[in-house]
Amino acid sequence: MAETIPSFADYDHIIVAMSTGKDSLACHLKLIEDGADPAKIEWWHHDVDGQEGSSLMDWPITRDYGAKLADAFGIPLYFSWKEGGFEREMCRDGAPTARNHFETPSGLKSAGGNSHKTGTRRKFPQCSADLSVRWCSAYLKIDVASTAINNQERFLGKRTLFVTGERAQESAARARYKTFEPHRTDLRHSPRRYRHVDHWRPIHAWSEEQVWDIIRRHGVNPHPAYHAGFGRVSCMNCIFMSHNQAATIQAHAPDRIGKLANYEKEFGCTIHRTLGVLERAAKGTPYEAATSEAMKRCLGEEYDLPILVDPKNWIIPAGAFGESCGPT
Ligand code: SF4
Repeated sequence: MAETIPSFADYDHIIVAMSTGKDSLACHLKLIEDGADPAKIEWWHHDVDGQEGSSLMDWPITRDYGAKLADAFGIPLYFSWKEGGFEREMCRDGAPTARNHFETPSGLKSAGGNSHKTGTRRKFPQCSADLSVRWCSAYLKIDVASTAINNQERFLGKRTLFVTGERAQESAARARYKTFEPHRTDLRHSPRRYRHVDHWRPIHAWSEEQVWDIIRRHGVNPHPAYHAGFGRVSCMNCIFMSHNQAATIQAHAPDRIGKLANYEKEFGCTIHRTLGVLERAAKGTPYEAATSEAMKRCLGEEYDLPILVDPKNWIIPAGAFGESCGPT
């Protein structure tokens, strides 16, 4: 079936949900190759840990790598997050969910957090394709982005293309996603608050080969975690981590995985129903590519390698085509 490419000239804004992983990067590169005007593009990155000091889930290097990646392409990068991030949401005990913060062209804004509806979590999100129980994606990414669109006047009376990088190859659940549909914030039929927002998944039909190929063509040095052997990059301590990923993190950042283990003990409930995270680490083998130097870079806060390299010298990272454990 022929691929449908939206007419970019019909949009005022193009937002790319930029995790800094390979799929969101491929979305941006495809937009450029398909002729989208870079001046209309902006990247949105959701900090899963928030910006209030929690360091439970995210790779420490991601923010700086993302900032330098955005600089290299001349694209504005806006960070957004739920206050207190994953940790606060997970520890909610008879309390309402926190508000969301989002950077905008006119500064930092906040919205939400006014609900009187209280709730208690005190357990990790469940490893399920159902977003109502795997609440991390819904509460820390999807809702944060929707809040940021709903609360910026600049999208009213305009047409916006919202771009995300899910691929059918990743899971049966993702295979069922539509490639193009009205975004959940769309108000195209509202006579008083018109806002047209389309959701496009431009690489939905792509294979992993195609993703790495476009990154190679543009000579982009991918997120350091790929060089350390990880096949998917979003949260370092993703609830979907494999035994080998757990073993790699245990070998290089025992304090980070130790925090997960402490919460498992406190909640009396492990992330996976049968084994605790440290038992899983004990069953795995650290990635060979996760050398001290490679992991030091992932665990640092300053990215010190070039972002763009000559495509002729581009090297496929060790994590490509490897274990692909991540959100289903
Ligand atoms: S990467 Fe994993 S832990 Fe992080 S938000 Fe997504 S599913 Fe949740």
